[in-house]
Amino acid sequence: MSEQKRTKRAGKVYLVGAGPGDPGLITVRGKYLLGKAEVVVYDYLANPKLLKHVPKGAELIYAGKKGGVKHTHTQEEINQMLVDWAEAGKTVVRLKGGDPFIFGRGGEEVEVLANLGINFEVVPGVTSATAAATYAGIPITHREHTASVAFLTGHEDPTKADSNIDWAKLATGAGTLVVYMGIKNLPIIVENLIANGRDPKTPVAVVRWASTPEQRSVVGTLENIAEIVQGAGIKPPALIIVGEVVTLRDTIDWFEKRPLFGKKIVVTRTREQASELVAGLEESGANCLEFSTIQIEPVPSYEVIDEELDRLEEYHWILFTSLNGVNFFFERLYEKGLDAREMKGVGIAAVGKATADLLLTYGVRVDLLPDVFTGEGLAESLLDQGVEGRNILIPRALKAREILPETLRGAGAQVTVAPVYQNVAPEGKREQLRTQLESGDVDMVTFTSSSTVRNFLSMVGTSDPGELKALMRNVLIAAIGPITAKTVTDNGLEVSIQPESHTIPDLTHEIVEYYKEEKKRK
Ligand code: SAH
Repeated sequence: MSEQKRTKRAGKVYLVGAGPGDPGLITVRGKYLLGKAEVVVYDYLANPKLLKHVPKGAELIYAGKKGGVKHTHTQEEINQMLVDWAEAGKTVVRLKGGDPFIFGRGGEEVEVLANLGINFEVVPGVTSATAAATYAGIPITHREHTASVAFLTGHEDPTKADSNIDWAKLATGAGTLVVYMGIKNLPIIVENLIANGRDPKTPVAVVRWASTPEQRSVVGTLENIAEIVQGAGIKPPALIIVGEVVTLRDTIDWFEKRPLFGKKIVVTRTREQASELVAGLEESGANCLEFSTIQIEPVPSYEVIDEELDRLEEYHWILFTSLNGVNFFFERLYEKGLDAREMKGVGIAAVGKATADLLLTYGVRVDLLPDVFTGEGLAESLLDQGVEGRNILIPRALKAREILPETLRGAGAQVTVAPVYQNVAPEGKREQLRTQLESGDVDMVTFTSSSTVRNFLSMVGTSDPGELKALMRNVLIAAIGPITAKTVTDNGLEVSIQPESHTIPDLTHEIVEYYKEEKKRK
């Protein structure tokens, strides 16, 4: 063996279950491996959101495979791809929906690797059968209803003489039956079960896109489920759950009953800050469409702030009016080799609670928090303290409302505004947002600052008020506070939801309450 060959790093293939759809349902090991992957080969049923765990620069290959639709790659091509990448020394994650060894052809893929002596490992996943049952409020087994469950494929034609499935035995042989890939053959499947002795009145549930915001379930009996599914227009991917346990859904259904389930909510925030609102809304079942209408970027010049950082002790007050203001201020401070001790003896004020909390993570406790969390509120609280002749520093966005510095100057303060970051509108998502609005299934748009409103409007790309109104006709608007709301109404739109206190948790709460009330009204 040549020296080069011996030292060549051996590749390895990790066959990883992606779970049923909710990206939170991948295993800890699966997520860890995605974080190490150099190549990821993923399927139609593996949620693409999981790819965010993959390091930048890794090769991402979509292997397709959607029932009935032309396959992107044949199984042979996929097998060969895994072999080639592994032989090239790569760490390969083969990401498959649900569990790779349950109707996923994972067995065939690793057989090939085993035969060629290629290193591999298999990480199980939450299979869609258990997820669909759980998320539809159906315990797949239950002491009072059934002690056995069978997973079967409905892909085969059940009338086929040489069927691999012994319908005669299965029809009554297991308490709960879960059928994968059975939507197309549903009429023949139920007929077969009845013909083989299963009670026609047996309850059946069909669950589509289980564990995702698009989940949809219908319930019936063996006799009528085929008709119900057809009437409801339910298409694959869906699972069929047959058995007495289905009746428990009436009591246990929890996922589809969450207050925001089925609501499509556009969240307009900065990329960096969207997570708290999105997490809160998703917790209550919303389907969030994130549009970063603002991108936060450094300013072209840090001249002003850099100069002021050298003489912080001369200030009486430093005012923080945003989270980004805090983060960029400290970034700059640290860059200069300084730290929070420079602020000793200087009064610190924050516009709101979140900003104050963030300051605390930098080791700085605020001396002043206004009663009303706005620029005006902050100005008022400061005026109460008397600001005449005081030196005040405001590290903030390049473009921002001037009301705070102007009010303070008007009262005789020496105010220095130091831009530490800027808001820019990102390119690219424009078309997607338009399409969503035009499709008419957006329920709500949320705004958390005036700039999110302005950037949203520029993304929607119309200055015609009539056209804007038409696009937003059935869309509710939630605004975090009065200033943001005013920007909305100034643009001819109406605000339906506005929390009393201007924080993200309060905005989330207000939205949830709104839809709870709406449900009651229905
Ligand atoms: N290995 C996968 C199954 C692949 S077979 C697993 O363990 O879940 C593909 C079939 O799985 C689909 O036709 C559908 O019946 C089912 N399926 C997969 N994900 C699903 C989901 N989120 N909701 C409903 N059914 C799903």
